[in-house]
Amino acid sequence: MKLHEYQSKRIFARYGIPVQEGEVATTPQEVRSLAEQMGCPVVVKAQVLVGGRGKAGGIKLARTPQEAEEVAARILSLQIKGLPVRKVLVARAADIQQEIYLGIVVDRAAARPVMMASSEGGVEIEEVARTHPEAIKKVHIDPFVGLRGYQTLSLAKGIGLPPALHRDFGRIAQGLYRSFVECDASLAEINPLVITPEGVLLALDAKIVLDDNGLFRHPDLAELRDIDEETPSERAAREAGLSFVQLDGDIGCMVNGAGLAMATMDIIQHFGGMPANFLDIGGGARADRVATALRLILADPRVKAVLFNIFGGITRCDEVARGIVSVLEEVRPNIPIVARLVGTNEAEGRQILESSGYGIITATTLAEAAQKAVAAATTSARD
Ligand code: GDP
Ligand code: MN
Repeated sequence: MKLHEYQSKRIFARYGIPVQEGEVATTPQEVRSLAEQMGCPVVVKAQVLVGGRGKAGGIKLARTPQEAEEVAARILSLQIKGLPVRKVLVARAADIQQEIYLGIVVDRAAARPVMMASSEGGVEIEEVARTHPEAIKKVHIDPFVGLRGYQTLSLAKGIGLPPALHRDFGRIAQGLYRSFVECDASLAEINPLVITPEGVLLALDAKIVLDDNGLFRHPDLAELRDIDEETPSERAAREAGLSFVQLDGDIGCMVNGAGLAMATMDIIQHFGGMPANFLDIGGGARADRVATALRLILADPRVKAVLFNIFGGITRCDEVARGIVSVLEEVRPNIPIVARLVGTNEAEGRQILESSGYGIITATTLAEAAQKAVAAATTSARD
């Protein structure tokens, strides 16, 4: 679960990180009066749960309350990466001498958190990571020992921070690490952490992503969920208990088991297709869950074909096939459906699908199913 910048800043502030905090507003008039109270220049910042707001026109400086009202009106009418901007953060604008990046994520391969810092922070950090990754300094943190002073010092030196700022940088890094651990976060990031012309460090942006599996320990954080920010599909999936991740391709995938779902996505790509989603419908493949899942997949107008890849273990394939047919009766998709059922009673299952009259394309192997789905998506008439 992602937190908004203003929410993340409040948390960071509790851990002693100096933040440019500000106030949230939903109308241009409110922004104007906040700008009057705070004194200009102010910065008006779209609060949407995606990165790259600056590049999308969602972050603007204003020299007068009048200008703040105008830029707020523009930002509040934006959609950034498909999400409408409903709130903005208004803060006293800071002067920037240098933008630094400081963040923590879990490094799964190393099985511990990694703290990263760069002297080239700001909106181009992804570009820095791609083109000259050596400009990003890293330290791995042993969770039993914690973040050590020598580690923050080596980051500070590694990014060429003036010695006068080493102590404050260390405090900020420790605060960031503690907030990351205590919130059960999977990411905590300050980009940019700026050096002002007065020579002090200040967090101008803040981002926390919470690990959903740890949310039950944090009812106060769980309450921060902004349901306005979930796409309708994400919400429906969460409520139905499905793991569903929307992707950019055109082949909808309905699979039981996360590992099989990933393998299915890989093989679709191997045969030149692009999966439209990751979806694990879980064990049992009950008809109502299959129906919800299929509706979710079909709600995406880009989907041109659907691939069912069901591994029937204890679940019998003929039962699953009946489930699929009853769902098709109800949902009646107008795009090709490819189904591969393997396991107990698979021949009966295939027979049920083939004689259902819905033109379901069946396949025996995963490779065959993926190739048929890719071909079906290429020739599908849906637009
Ligand atoms: P993001 O694009 O979603 O990461 O949003 P940020 O909050 O990081 O803002 C993007 C960029 O806007 C920053 O890298 C800064 O260059 C600039 N910016 C943000 N706040 C301020 C501010 O208070 N003063 C100035 N001068 N620039 C700012
Ligand atoms: Mn940023």
